[in-house]
Amino acid sequence: MATLFDQIENQIADTQSTVHHVTALLAGLDNRPQDWEYTGNVYDSGPYSNAECCCGHPIRYMFEVKDTKSGCTTNLGSTCIDHYKAYRPCDAELMEKHLAALLEKQAAVRKAAQAVARQEKVIAAAERYKALRQQVEDRHWANRRASRRSPYDVWAIVESCRGFLPLDALAYVEHTYVRACDSVKWIEKQVARMERALEL
Ligand SMILES: [Zn+2]
Repeated sequence: MATLFDQIENQIADTQSTVHHVTALLAGLDNRPQDWEYTGNVYDSGPYSNAECCCGHPIRYMFEVKDTKSGCTTNLGSTCIDHYKAYRPCDAELMEKHLAALLEKQAAVRKAAQAVARQEKVIAAAERYKALRQQVEDRHWANRRASRRSPYDVWAIVESCRGFLPLDALAYVEHTYVRACDSVKWIEKQVARMERALEL
């Protein structure tokens, strides 16, 4: 367990680190932080970028600030917004809003991409289904033309009321299931059934 002395030492170390950080930030803003306004531009430099805050810290989300005197621009990281806030609270508030909006947008994009991936899985399963279903169809009618009886499983898929399978699975699953995973599950089950019927 940390002693009181340890705790005080840790607090001192934290404070020193903050002082060091804020000093670097102020130096990065020419010791006139009040003159650097937020341009409204926030960028995601990506998870593995070499982007840096003007304090020297590596950052991912970069907020562009502009010196109203010289027109120079530099970037702040999200941690430094907290320190910058003391000088330009309205700008810092806007930065926080923009960051929240950016994160929300990125989450929506990720979600949409996942939905597309799930749909692609359904389409791939349905393609295999369609090919097998056509084979079952061809097998059955070839038997009928040759006056042969189809095996029960083949007949059932093509002609029975209970075991009948549509030629195309997509329209069926779209009307039956809400979740893509349930659609895939149903299609895969029928694929296995047709493989058995065809003795593949
Ligand atoms: Zn910084």
